[in-house]
Amino acid sequence: MVWKLRAWAGGDPAAQVAMAKRLGLSSVSVKVQNGTVRRWENPENYPHNQNWDLMASTVRALVAAGIEVTGWGWLYGRAADNETYKLDADLSLMEATATADIMRDFVALGGAPVFGVDAEAPYKEVYPERTGMAGVADRYFDRLYSLWPDLILYLCTYRYPTLHQTFPFPRFISGVHSNAPQVYWLGETAVDAGARNLSRSLNEYNAYRWMETVPMAPTYSGPSGWRASPAQLIAFFAAAKANPQCVGAGVWCLDLATAAQLDAVAQAPWDDTPPAPVPPPAEEFRLAWPTMAPKVVTQAYGINPYLYNPYGLKGHEGIDLRAPNGTPVYAAADGVVSRVEPIDNNAYGVHVRLKHLHGTDEYETVYGHFTVGSIRVVVGLAVARGQLIGLADDTGNSSAAHLHMTLKHRGHGSPWMAKSDIVNPTPYMVDLFPGKGWIVDVAGNLRTGPDLGASIKRLLPVNTLVDALDFGGEGGDWWEVRVRATGESGYYWNPGYKLRAVL
Ligand SMILES: [Zn+2]
Repeated sequence: MVWKLRAWAGGDPAAQVAMAKRLGLSSVSVKVQNGTVRRWENPENYPHNQNWDLMASTVRALVAAGIEVTGWGWLYGRAADNETYKLDADLSLMEATATADIMRDFVALGGAPVFGVDAEAPYKEVYPERTGMAGVADRYFDRLYSLWPDLILYLCTYRYPTLHQTFPFPRFISGVHSNAPQVYWLGETAVDAGARNLSRSLNEYNAYRWMETVPMAPTYSGPSGWRASPAQLIAFFAAAKANPQCVGAGVWCLDLATAAQLDAVAQAPWDDTPPAPVPPPAEEFRLAWPTMAPKVVTQAYGINPYLYNPYGLKGHEGIDLRAPNGTPVYAAADGVVSRVEPIDNNAYGVHVRLKHLHGTDEYETVYGHFTVGSIRVVVGLAVARGQLIGLADDTGNSSAAHLHMTLKHRGHGSPWMAKSDIVNPTPYMVDLFPGKGWIVDVAGNLRTGPDLGASIKRLLPVNTLVDALDFGGEGGDWWEVRVRATGESGYYWNPGYKLRAVL
């Protein structure tokens, strides 16, 4: 998270990108709102502390580097200002309107439609005039969702609900999609303090509702100059990484962290820097992983024929990748946007298609099931591999959020699939093929050539481990494989549903 853009890496977008890359950040959340305004200090008194004048350059630079940028804001609820907490029954409505207005501008700059709700002390029912704060929170969420039904919200507030019982946790927890609790172990010196705080924080929130969580560690200066030590931060990140509920971890905030703390962040055991950019082997068309790590195939190409036969398909016509709701989707290769479908009225739902010219060959990738309103590109736009094109979701024929990708090779479609130039994308994906092992799921013959008439070398039984060596031709219908145990190589038909990746 970032508080003051101008204080982060000197306010220099190139330096900010360099730091984000060095730290391995996949997402940066920048403060965009304070109460009803898009800055959080009076610009006359604090001319160097407002965010918005630097917002465009920072957001564009980060997005161009393949790093997601989200917004967050501080909300007061009923308080008219943060010193007197004057009663103002309409303030939460005004703040909701401000969130929508600010986030629309933010998204227009390339930011993601993801907003962090930071509500703390002003929402506590401390003074006589501050009662009914749950209802105040209700008005905020109701107004905001009426203005922007698809805006993705995460909560960022106190670590332990039991320590702040006058804060309306249930209403905030029910109003958001995910959680980024402030796990701030201020003053504690034990190396495992952050890890212990994280465990308790998750337990206390889970008593209300299980949410995907990206816990925040403190990298600012606490009481008496206390700071989280690098060893504490490393232990905190390791604990988060080990807990499947934590889909990431972060710090508050980059602009207040010391060099030693940043070095600890850089050691965090996540490798989900945005996909990109494995340079493809020269002369070959290749696809980068088009969404975030962990790189998980949730439905392979060619399988589940009973689901797809009714649509005239032999099996699953593309590849499904793990991509929770709101996950960024990136162009898998350089190309030009050939179609944008913003309306959820077709099998792929809200989706984007890219054309890729490779020599005289023409490929097309289709990315399906995006969030309504999340498409970041327009038809005709040239996009680079790794460029953000939209956010994953569950629109169209989909039963849960994921990314579906279809690959077409004009005039060279798979004879087996025999549909719309579709080929098996797997062998084009540098993360899957070759190199990683494959396990035989459906026994089949190893042949001397990529042809059902070629001689049979032997039957490969179920559970044989093979390495994929090369395309065997015909739209991915044949692969050249080598049996790992014996070194024998040959050609295997229909690997899409007969081989299972070892990831
Ligand atoms: Zn699919």
